[in-house]
Amino acid sequence: MTDPDWLSAGAAHVWRPYCQMKTAPPPLPVVATRGSRLVLSDGRELVDGLASWWTACHGYNHPHIAEALRAQLDRMPHVMFGGLAHEPAYRLAARLAKLLPGDLDHVFFAESGSVSVEIAMKMALQFHINRGVKGRTKFLAFRGGYHGDTLATMTVCDPEEGMHSLFAGVMPSQVIADLPRDADSEAALDALLAARASEIAAILVEPLVQGAGGMLFHPPEVLRTLRRLADKHGVLLIFDEIFTGFGRTGTLLAMQAAGIEPDIVTLSKALTGGTLPLSAAVASKRVFEAFWSDDADAALMHGPTYMANPLACAAANASLDLFEDGSWSANVARVSAALAEGLEPCRAGRGVVDVRTLGAIGVVEFEAPVAVGALCAAFAALGVWIRPMGKVVYLTPAFTTPDADLERLTAAVRRVTGVG
Ligand SMILES: *Cc1c(COP(=O)(O)O)cnc(C)c1O
Repeated sequence: MTDPDWLSAGAAHVWRPYCQMKTAPPPLPVVATRGSRLVLSDGRELVDGLASWWTACHGYNHPHIAEALRAQLDRMPHVMFGGLAHEPAYRLAARLAKLLPGDLDHVFFAESGSVSVEIAMKMALQFHINRGVKGRTKFLAFRGGYHGDTLATMTVCDPEEGMHSLFAGVMPSQVIADLPRDADSEAALDALLAARASEIAAILVEPLVQGAGGMLFHPPEVLRTLRRLADKHGVLLIFDEIFTGFGRTGTLLAMQAAGIEPDIVTLSKALTGGTLPLSAAVASKRVFEAFWSDDADAALMHGPTYMANPLACAAANASLDLFEDGSWSANVARVSAALAEGLEPCRAGRGVVDVRTLGAIGVVEFEAPVAVGALCAAFAALGVWIRPMGKVVYLTPAFTTPDADLERLTAAVRRVTGVG
């Protein structure tokens, strides 16, 4: 098959993500998507095991989202959000406040996950400043964590993880700890906070699953411990639900499995059902009230150009419509069972150290980092799109992926692991 013209014409000009372009295999040209499939320029269809970095939770080209986008496109693709208001964003903010537990009621929109994390960090810093507390300039985050690729979010990612270790020493360092998984690590974190809480604005964590850091799971008790320690030491608690939000772990929000709420939560990835970039940092009443003042300097000085883009908000509202009928929950359970059963034999595979499933996330972990390029090619030859990450080969398919496509995904992982 010959490559399409645009691929060779643009290849010298496009800078690819997470990629040593000199040695990496070329990217696969995709010309269309449908349901759980990517359609390549040569007509081949690959079952998508990743839902495009965990965004396309309802599958691709969902007619309800497409319809909402078309209607919004005709009416008003975009207006600035400074001084202007529009229905898609105001409706979406009210709906998010309603579906989030507790009083997480105050929604600040942005366009990407990393930027929403930066906004949450800025909210936490200014929360203390506005209350007259000085010196709380740092964040406490966890080994194995991932919160984005921008400069400030890099500082709260796992410091040893290959992605950002090159920049050690460039940005101010944060306090990085182990998750409190047992009595000893809880006592260690308590002691760390007792010693350093006066420097710390907030604790930042991905609830239940540390995603890009290696699909590492922790039980809900860990989150309850963090809530308790945050309150004890007067620091805020931020949940980064950019990966876990919107059903991925089996509950609509991961925080619901723990029955507690953070002071700020970030959302993105599946927020628009995988159609347009949009994110939100949602604050509790207590956080918001620290900004509510007659003093202009107490305001949150932030406002991305494309903030609350009406098209993206319309897509998010349509995606929430699809969540409203509740069928996502049975679908996540179905996907979960298929992943657990289909991946279980990999335990006997070469170099495999763990196989685990939570919600619509299936993980096969190896003892050493895997050859990403070679594995992607092997998977594509088996009719699936799976892109491993570090030591893990993982599946995060759309919740609507049909059983036969789920079987194709797990069969490909079994084959590559040497057990199928
Ligand atoms: C993807 C991700 C981010 C970054 O989102 P971008 O939209 O890529 O900037 C932050 N936190 C978590 C948990 C993520 O999974």
